[in-house]
Amino acid sequence: MPKHEQILLKNMSQSGYSGSLADYERAGGYQAIRKALGKIAPADVTAIVMKSGLRGRGGAGFPTGVKWGFLPKDHRGPRYLCCNADESEPGTFKDRQLMERDPHQLLEGIVLAGYAIGAESTYIYIRGEMVLGSKILERAIEEAKAAGYVGRNILGTGVNVDIVVHRGAGAYICGEETALLESLEGKRGLPRVKPPFPATHGLYNKPTVVNNVETLANLPHILNRGAEWFSSIGSPPKSTGTRIFCVSGHVKRPGNYEVPMGVTFRELIYEQAGGMRGDKPIKAFIPGGASAPFLTPAHLDVKLDFESVAAAGSMLGSGGVTVMEEGTSMVWAALRLMEFFYHESCGKCSPCREGSSWLVQTMRRIVAKQGRAQDLETLTDLCKNIAGRTVCAFGDAEVAPIMSTLKHWRQEYVALIHEADAANLIRSIPTGT
Ligand code: NAD
Repeated sequence: MPKHEQILLKNMSQSGYSGSLADYERAGGYQAIRKALGKIAPADVTAIVMKSGLRGRGGAGFPTGVKWGFLPKDHRGPRYLCCNADESEPGTFKDRQLMERDPHQLLEGIVLAGYAIGAESTYIYIRGEMVLGSKILERAIEEAKAAGYVGRNILGTGVNVDIVVHRGAGAYICGEETALLESLEGKRGLPRVKPPFPATHGLYNKPTVVNNVETLANLPHILNRGAEWFSSIGSPPKSTGTRIFCVSGHVKRPGNYEVPMGVTFRELIYEQAGGMRGDKPIKAFIPGGASAPFLTPAHLDVKLDFESVAAAGSMLGSGGVTVMEEGTSMVWAALRLMEFFYHESCGKCSPCREGSSWLVQTMRRIVAKQGRAQDLETLTDLCKNIAGRTVCAFGDAEVAPIMSTLKHWRQEYVALIHEADAANLIRSIPTGT
């Protein structure tokens, strides 16, 4: 029995729940669109979402209702909704579970959002590797269409919301909303300069909303149970509702845990995820996906809400909490993430394209005990010249592991460089004397 009320994971935690339309309807599914479509004006649906305090669950935490409100009111012609299902942030695997295990919850959320913003064409841009998820969604869309919940003239209300699944081709950058739009348009997935934001110039240059899977999955519950109910959960007024945290690494029970925002990392790691593997002491954790700076055991009592994690010097991000035990090399851990960012840099901006290569080379050298005394200064200088100097947030993200491990575990870098110095010294002593 979970300690906290489950909202998004509730259906799938019931034994025998298959995620089929019949199961979803038995669990009360599709009542929210019966309640809203044609009965609550689209602007009022937006107002309810705004009042609920729902913030984006993809990483940035932007208020969802406010984002919808940015769409131009006087625009004639198509508007689009894109569900960002390109979940690729290392250590993040919640959207995948939501799509594979309860697809209709997401579809109902998409119909509600499409209705609120006036988008008749909506897309689910799903990470290419999630083949199972895309098949499950396609089957669910067919079921929902046949039952009149998706498509034209939904439940006889005259509302049209169609949903198309589009599989990505495996690039992390396509989770960045403007690269996603480029990719959906059939072009190479490279980020666009913002502003203009997709709200005014999005898919095919038309007003577009891009919302994450978990964000959209919350909508049926908000419409069914009300904005006040939702805003009373979590850490009001700024971090309302629950979040699904993906706990991975050296814990006894890795997995997805839905908890109200505002519980502490200590509760998430030691109660929900069962504590540390082998009861070893904890050394470090990443609080919100690879883009979030590392935190230390001193931060275990920080609350899992947007403000508290930011005040601790990191971010709640995508909800991926990666836990590391005593004995883990922090330099190696930072290199591991740096290798990922180096591989995924799209190459559009020079600081990121060139800088990620230099960062990875320098880090590899240090880990191989061939580092030089000036390497720490070089790393810091490179990071400062990448962060904030790229078109998208990738630049800020890729320097986070290095900057934060340098801040908290600098002595580990120094020790590896000293070992390199010692080895060089030994090598330099002439033999045979
Ligand atoms: P952002 O702050 O630039 O934007 C957030 C959202 O608000 C966007 O949809 C943007 O269009 C909208 N927005 C912001 N200001 C606006 C304005 N003035 N007018 C209209 N719309 C506006 O952040 P981002 O680049 O979209 O996201 C960065 C985050 O993505 C990171 O914090 C990271 O945690 C996360 N991330 C997630 C994953 C994943 O797999 N879930 C992967 C990589 C990164």
